[in-house]
Amino acid sequence: MLATFFESVLDLIIRTSTDLAPDVRTAMKAALNVEPAGTQAAQALTIIAENIDQAASDEGAICQDTGLPTFEIRVPKGADQVWMTERILEAIAEATRRGKLRPNSVDSITGKNSGNNLGPGTPTIHFYQWDRDEIDCRLLLKGGGCENTNIQYAVPCELPHLGRADRTLDGVRKCILHAVWQAQGKGCSPGALGVCIGGDRASGYQHAKLQLLRTLDDVNPVPALAQLEAAVMATVNDLGIGTMGFGGRTTLIGCKIGALNRLPACYFVSVAYDCWAFRRLGVVLDTKTGAIARWLYRDPAHPALPMIDQAGFTRTGREVVLAAPITEEQARSLKVGDVVLLNGRMYTGRDAVHSHLMHHDPPVDLQGGVIYHCGPVVLKDGDSWRMMAAGPTTSIREEPYQGDLIRKFGVRAVVGKGGMGARTLSALKEAGAVYLSAIGGAAQFYARCVRSVPGVSLLEFGVPEAMWHMDVADFPTIVTMDAHGNSLHKDIETASAGRLETMA
Ligand code: SF4
Repeated sequence: MLATFFESVLDLIIRTSTDLAPDVRTAMKAALNVEPAGTQAAQALTIIAENIDQAASDEGAICQDTGLPTFEIRVPKGADQVWMTERILEAIAEATRRGKLRPNSVDSITGKNSGNNLGPGTPTIHFYQWDRDEIDCRLLLKGGGCENTNIQYAVPCELPHLGRADRTLDGVRKCILHAVWQAQGKGCSPGALGVCIGGDRASGYQHAKLQLLRTLDDVNPVPALAQLEAAVMATVNDLGIGTMGFGGRTTLIGCKIGALNRLPACYFVSVAYDCWAFRRLGVVLDTKTGAIARWLYRDPAHPALPMIDQAGFTRTGREVVLAAPITEEQARSLKVGDVVLLNGRMYTGRDAVHSHLMHHDPPVDLQGGVIYHCGPVVLKDGDSWRMMAAGPTTSIREEPYQGDLIRKFGVRAVVGKGGMGARTLSALKEAGAVYLSAIGGAAQFYARCVRSVPGVSLLEFGVPEAMWHMDVADFPTIVTMDAHGNSLHKDIETASAGRLETMA
């Protein structure tokens, strides 16, 4: 019975997590090619490109947030879906054990991480029957940063900077533009959208996510939706949000729209935002052996060409090299736009650590220290730890805590992605500290900047939420919030709001 089904699914999971599909690579290459050299967007895209190549060549996770696995599977009538589900769960656990997936399944009541990516709702598996004698198995890995930027509109509604969105395709267009604008760089732009017009609140989001299984270069078979997709893509990049919200020419690499019938009283527009680390692949399996008959989205006979042909992030000589602990004077000397190469000790901290530190002393001395918003993939290697993937996580989640922790413990630099808000900006100014943007999703690139992992605190919070001690070398970041009250994120949001108004 399907003797190699488990191996095939495991292969699919590992490949999806580590090797970006050719259509996404092509779109990201195009994004890199249109940015003028030396801009922040070009620097970020160069790191992203290098990261994509590193992940594929070393079979490492493209992004440390390997997302929630969603399987969409078509099977012949009579296929044993119970047995297949059991093998899929085993394959997910095995991929996690090998460090290809980060343990990402957290009990919503106790906060405990299951450690193996299994639990209620994890993974999501949908089976459908069809008349063909083959199994079509597709996998989407969508991470938390972009999941948090999903949005649903109940139309008609008033949209900031765009006015009223009616129950028309033009109203849908306005909702989509607003969805991209509100995401800014927080979902690791440039992103791709799956959109559903109609359905109910649950089926709308589900159908929106399914649109992400289309290739970026396909054409919608429904002419009205094809036109709408083209209209969005023709204007959306004029918003100027750019890569990671640093400004730039590419904010979106794709917009795929589907429609479901709706109740007369309801008109939902559901938007599923996916990041540049847009991980989805599929396989067609032999129904007798479970072996991979062919790959979907990629052709192994034509290996993907490297994203870049040189050494990646190149120094201009204008970088500021800093080693932790950082002094107040060093922090105050930095300005928005400076590129900083960090050296020395950094401590990871995200939701659980920040919440914990509000009521407890830190387990390490944070005076002059660097906090890295990161939930890495780390494997135990004998008595030591091996950093497998270490890109930044979305910083804005720590907004309720960050300012207090900067003031209380003397933190001088916070590294993350997507930027933070007014409370943190005011604490940076008052205490003399900076917010440094790392490039979201560049998990392999940053893992290579980690020279050693000398320790870990608060491991009881689970691997992604623990406080990892990392010694880093030449870890590149960009100052996007400084100690003088400047925020690139605030500036880009304001400028893009002005451009949004012209698209109403
Ligand atoms: S690239 Fe960014 S948004 Fe996407 S999974 Fe990684 S951290 Fe999350």
